[in-house]
Amino acid sequence: MDELLAIGDFAARCGLSAKMLRSYAAVGLLVPAVVDPWSGYRYYATNQLPQARVIALLRHAGIAVDDIAGFFEHPDVLAFDRWDRELMRDSRARRQALAQARAALAVGHAPSRAQPETSGKDSHMAHNFRTGAATAIGGRATNQDAVHVGNWLFAVADGFGGLHDGEVASRLALDTLDVTFAADGSVSGLLNACREANRAVWRQASDKGEDATMGTTLAALAVTSDVAVVVVQVGDSRLYRFRHAHLEALTRDHSVVGGLIRAGALREEDARAHPHWGLLTRALGVGPVVDVDHAGVSCEPGDRLVLCTDGLFNVLSSEEMTGVVGSHAQAQHCADRLVASAVERGAPDNVTALVVDLADAA
Ligand code: MG
Repeated sequence: MDELLAIGDFAARCGLSAKMLRSYAAVGLLVPAVVDPWSGYRYYATNQLPQARVIALLRHAGIAVDDIAGFFEHPDVLAFDRWDRELMRDSRARRQALAQARAALAVGHAPSRAQPETSGKDSHMAHNFRTGAATAIGGRATNQDAVHVGNWLFAVADGFGGLHDGEVASRLALDTLDVTFAADGSVSGLLNACREANRAVWRQASDKGEDATMGTTLAALAVTSDVAVVVVQVGDSRLYRFRHAHLEALTRDHSVVGGLIRAGALREEDARAHPHWGLLTRALGVGPVVDVDHAGVSCEPGDRLVLCTDGLFNVLSSEEMTGVVGSHAQAQHCADRLVASAVERGAPDNVTALVVDLADAA
């Protein structure tokens, strides 16, 4: 026979208050094992503690009591996936509201400074980063590009799909990447974060039905805890490095025409006229697994790194991009100018640029 605990003792051991326990019991969740018919005192069995602790965790995660009660009545592992997505959406909506409040008050972003998790392991990590990001809707009905600027992670994503699905895909991918990479900042943690981002978008698309098409590109630069600066990329968003007045693409487009150009079967200037122009060969969220390109990025003080979506480089030539990247000292001015130049040119697509400058170590 399991030991019986008075409600106060039980509450102290499971992290829920006596008041909460009473309200849960009222909806059939975690009903006391014994209620003294004379005094009305409630007693819980010690074997109810594991369930009570799970309930405390789920409440801490913000799951509604009715939902938790429903889960224990009809346990279904899919509920956890659903809750996970809801939390992600919630966090996205809250972050958007915060960003709007920041924009309304014209509060800028403080320059972010990467701090190594392990000291002095690699000299790359001792650099200061100065960042600037800009995005514009261009000629589209919605902006399906997303951008993330963190202390350790800088990323752009170009979503696609019906109605608002592209926006959801690109934001969900970057939020998932950010949260997962924060839990493990190593290169393998980064690659796992890419896989998680892929799964999150894939699950979201699967929930919408068989015909739903939803996916996103990804180009991200991460300061990892073991191999310094690493780029990960899927699709046709790009990373460029500007050094000594020269702009070099460090990623290779996963697109039909990109493959043909690399194979020497198509000239760059003929790409746009190709019937499969704009068709991706890889993207996040279109299948349960994805092949992600990754590589270490050699960088030195004075380097400027530019992440961008195709809306930028499909409008500006590399000479024009080089001109803009080389003529603005501040990262934010540079990002603003890149995007504005594409928009002034009548950009038909969403345009996003994220500029990361490596300053000298402080
Ligand atoms: Mg695009």
